[in-house]
Amino acid sequence: MSTGLAERIRAESARLAALCVACGECVRACPMTAYAAGVEAAAPNAVAAGMRDVLQDGEGTPEARAWIAACTRSGVCSPACPEGLDAAFMLRLAQWRAKGALGTPPLIPVKEDTQYSPKVKAFARLTLTEEEQAKWL
Ligand code: SF4
Repeated sequence: MSTGLAERIRAESARLAALCVACGECVRACPMTAYAAGVEAAAPNAVAAGMRDVLQDGEGTPEARAWIAACTRSGVCSPACPEGLDAAFMLRLAQWRAKGALGTPPLIPVKEDTQYSPKVKAFARLTLTEEEQAKWL
């Protein structure tokens, strides 16, 4: 992972986490909660707060980590966000971070994936201008 991209992930994580009010609407909308241990029994706002914690260098809660790991990029969460945040991108950032993309020990299981870094870059390109790509990737 390039230093620039790591900085970008940190900056976007901090920006979005500061705007998130942890209302839990993204969790309520998510079709994957049934496949994430403990999430359906947990309060949605607590799960969202745990996801936000991961974006802020924390470890989240077990339920938040299970939710982050279960994300399949359905994108259903983004239109559900009353704050107009790209919740799907937040989950993506949280998943990268939880997998140790910033050099910290993984918080969720990581499958050996030789294409992990190229995939992160490919996804990041979708959200960056050409100028930002030149700077960050
Ligand atoms: S719906 Fe939006 S504001 Fe509410 S917890 Fe999810 S990302 Fe945060």
